[in-house]
Amino acid sequence: MHDREELADALRDLAGALRHHRDLGVTEVPLSAAAAAAPPPIDAAKALAAQEAALQGCTLCKLCRSRTNIAFGSGNPRAGLLVVGEGPGEEEDRQGKPFVGRAGQLLTKMLESVGFDRERDAYIANVVKCRPERNRNPEPDEVAACNPFLMAQLDTVRPGVILALGNFAAQTLLGTREGITKLRGRAYEYRSSILVPTFHPAFLLRNPGPEYRRMAWDDLKLAKREFDRLAALKR
Ligand code: URA
Repeated sequence: MHDREELADALRDLAGALRHHRDLGVTEVPLSAAAAAAPPPIDAAKALAAQEAALQGCTLCKLCRSRTNIAFGSGNPRAGLLVVGEGPGEEEDRQGKPFVGRAGQLLTKMLESVGFDRERDAYIANVVKCRPERNRNPEPDEVAACNPFLMAQLDTVRPGVILALGNFAAQTLLGTREGITKLRGRAYEYRSSILVPTFHPAFLLRNPGPEYRRMAWDDLKLAKREFDRLAALKR
């Protein structure tokens, strides 16, 4: 390849990387080698707002045809806990926020039962940000289209603990077909976080039996222990 083509390629790559950083909320790029080794702290709230703005009007998958609003995410941008659900339901689609319907009310209670405060301690997101019609499971092309946005949320919030709710979130994040009953009950290392899978509150609302609520409570206690352990390490 000619020098000029190589230079053009390198500049294109650099422009792509800078656009990505801008979307993540990075506003300054350090030029000294020492500063470059330690990336500048991201203003998480600004970064999430920029990501949410970038998603407006998204037509990357067919869910855009039936959605009312995009439910990007909500909660504390610097939370130690990131909760991941499946996708918005009817109420979430109406309000443009995750977990604001009946499952969301149970989620709030589940978090409180182990001492989490939803607003203070958690950031909440879904695998897909637009409602699948009649609450069907999201399809692989829809998950793939939305994945960069979930990964950007994870990279911005950088939670100590991720609580994956239900088959869909746990399987998507862990990259497995194993069911939630097998996956739950333990913690996994996932990127730079600890991931704890548990039952989805919508499943618990269908009253599968008290043993499932007990198992979910055990999982939440595990998530809280990990959250407290990691918080103590930071002090
Ligand atoms: N179920 C989900 O998985 N996510 C929501 O936001 C609401 C219900």
